[in-house]
Amino acid sequence: MHPRLQQDLDQFPQILDRTRQLAEGFLAGLKQRPVYPPLEAQQLQLGDDQLADSGNGALATLEDFWLRYAEGLSGSAGPRYFGFVTGGATPAALAADWLVSAIDQNSLLSHDTVAAAIELATIEQLKSLLGLPKAFSGSFVSGATMANFVGIAIGRQWLGQQRGIDVAEQGLAALGPIQVLSANAHSSSVKALSMLGIGRDALKIVDCLPDSEAMDTAALERHLAASNGAPVIVLASAGTVNTVIFDDLPRLLALRERYPFWLHVDAAFGGVAACSPHYSPLLTGWEQADSITVDAHKWLNVPYDSAIQFTRHLELQMQVFQNHSVYMEAPTLRPDDYLHLTPENSRRFRALPLWMALKAYGRSGMQDMVERNIQLARRLGAGLDASEGFHLLAPVNLNVVCFALSNVEGDAAAARDRFIARLDRHGIVRCTPTHYNGQPGIRAALVNWMTEEEDIRLALESLRHCLPEAF
Ligand SMILES: *Cc1c(COP(=O)(O)O)cnc(C)c1O
Repeated sequence: MHPRLQQDLDQFPQILDRTRQLAEGFLAGLKQRPVYPPLEAQQLQLGDDQLADSGNGALATLEDFWLRYAEGLSGSAGPRYFGFVTGGATPAALAADWLVSAIDQNSLLSHDTVAAAIELATIEQLKSLLGLPKAFSGSFVSGATMANFVGIAIGRQWLGQQRGIDVAEQGLAALGPIQVLSANAHSSSVKALSMLGIGRDALKIVDCLPDSEAMDTAALERHLAASNGAPVIVLASAGTVNTVIFDDLPRLLALRERYPFWLHVDAAFGGVAACSPHYSPLLTGWEQADSITVDAHKWLNVPYDSAIQFTRHLELQMQVFQNHSVYMEAPTLRPDDYLHLTPENSRRFRALPLWMALKAYGRSGMQDMVERNIQLARRLGAGLDASEGFHLLAPVNLNVVCFALSNVEGDAAAARDRFIARLDRHGIVRCTPTHYNGQPGIRAALVNWMTEEEDIRLALESLRHCLPEAF
């Protein structure tokens, strides 16, 4: 064995101990850590792109990494990082994620490890948490982007089936152009259309209702009627990123009675609201969707990278993703034969963090996270609305505050960008830019399990401090 490998084998306990210490220090300082590290600290240091000849061993490399780069890590897992839709990691999920690397299981088939059985059990618990019926199967993928990819891939196979074509075998050319309809498809679904060979141009944008991001179902019906009975794919939003608007799923289902379409619901973070009886009505009807996307690394607060794709069409899914090989088991129609159901072959034991979090905190723990975030988002929204320099661009529907600067003269987008740069330098709260209703806006998305009232106070203070007048 190479001497450095031998040395590290002998020092395994010390290496893990030191890792724990560093992680502990990081987590202890997480609330105080700037949400946006200094730009210089985000740069690679000289020589660190060069391959070592024989290496320094794990302990020295660990120290070196920490010394050079700890300052360049953002507090994105902390309680005041409201940028994009960024969750943190609960203690149970984090502990599980560490173990996942230590035990290093390949969770692709249920042949020589319990990993696949636990993945299946996690899916079952999640269905119970979110009120999804037995008819759904699910599997873990790396994020909502891949979950959207898988859902649309199964939809593509379904479109072929309607016309007696097996797209998985014959290719998309046998089917011809596909029509995809959506009012507010997430950019990742549009990426999926490219990856799936359907093409971004296949997406026809359906009008929204006035002053809303919700699909106008009458406009959708006009598109469906115009496609003359040809089956299409409809991408519905269950929580848009700007204003967390949910498409009217019962109406979509009523339309599906009359026009043939595959209904994919992107509920990346909005779907998690279904764990609360107060908010589950927003998802009414999703239990009849053909495929559903739910992220785990957002509102379920497991570490990156993790999401779940659900479908009621396991057989079609297997047609798309089955993996024939002389050295692998032949595909069988089982919900835990992940090798034949997901884009990957070898897979991380990605389910364990969510399994442990659900065991550790249960239904009510998850409900607390969701309801607390929503309540605090409303508080933040009310605080901004009451402040001189801000106004809301939309009511706070759930856990995202979409707002803008008031009294701006000149280029509003440039003023907004300067404001966000000041906010980043202040380091207390991270918000990210957006565009809503033709106006440059700012988003604050609350999905972190640690966020509490004091964080909203600190955030409002920082937001007001960074207003243009203050400079
Ligand atoms: C975040 C998000 C995605 C993409 O998710 P990743 O986990 O980043 O791949 C897709 N759809 C919606 C609605 C999202 O919020």
